[in-house]
Amino acid sequence: MNSFKYSNSNKRYYTLDYYYKKKYDTKVAKISLNLGLTCPNKDGTKGFGGCIYCSKLGSGEYGGNPIEPVKKQFETIKKIMTKKWPNCKFIAYFQANTNTYGPLDYLIKNWEEVIKYKDVVGINISTRPDSITKECFNYLEELNKKTDLVIELGLQTTKEETSKLINRCSTLKEFESCVKELNKRNIKVLVHIINGLPYETKEDMLNTVKYINKFNIWGIKIHMLHILKDTKLENIYKNENFHVLTREEYVDIVCDQLELLKEDIVINRITGDPKIDDLIEPFWLTKKFCVLNEIDKEMNKRDSYQGKNFKNDS
Ligand code: SF4
Repeated sequence: MNSFKYSNSNKRYYTLDYYYKKKYDTKVAKISLNLGLTCPNKDGTKGFGGCIYCSKLGSGEYGGNPIEPVKKQFETIKKIMTKKWPNCKFIAYFQANTNTYGPLDYLIKNWEEVIKYKDVVGINISTRPDSITKECFNYLEELNKKTDLVIELGLQTTKEETSKLINRCSTLKEFESCVKELNKRNIKVLVHIINGLPYETKEDMLNTVKYINKFNIWGIKIHMLHILKDTKLENIYKNENFHVLTREEYVDIVCDQLELLKEDIVINRITGDPKIDDLIEPFWLTKKFCVLNEIDKEMNKRDSYQGKNFKNDS
């Protein structure tokens, strides 16, 4: 039964799977690659030490091995994936750290290398809104003509106090100007937000989604905050013991966010996938399918769907 016009399952939101199946008529899988880059929020250019929740691997836990060339990383992961989905197509996902923060010729060489594979339909590049140079924007405009390009931007929250607390070291102004530049070049924008950041209220999290609605955004990734070992967040949590959302609270907030979001924004992620060995809290996240099921059940119970409460002036 189709519950929502942009879904091929019981989901009441615009699933990425639906988007890819419509576009490519086959399964599309992501291959996470690691260029061994750093981040301007770690090396002192914008900040030191990074965002408080960032892991040693720059949030690239599931990526390839950065000491290997990208081609090798790609082929190793592809071999595993084609065992599961023999005819699938791939998105090369540059995930760890800030993937536009490095010498442009090095970045171009690696991006161009992966799009040569005939089963690669696109590239996702994860970065910060303050880290794309004019030359890079111009190159991305050309790259976008050759492949299905998505630029992923970490916003996380619109609340100023939280942005300081998490040491994001980038501003809403930078986010807005980056989105404008990408829109100008017809490049798809995917925004990351995090629910459950320390001391945020439900209203704060809904405000972040209302803010996103104001822009021309292709997709969103909704994360639940992971408290990981060996991060600054771990120390803050141990010292301050701030409230961590329960699964029920998270599900309720996500459903409200889905109702507020524009119906044509593609939901690329709706829960987290932390590695259990690194996780301090919350452990309910390790049962990903339960979280997804609870979201479906709640949307069903509400007889609701993505965009139900979207307002143009939100
Ligand atoms: S911007 Fe991303 S890579 Fe850089 S510190 Fe923050 S989470 Fe880590």
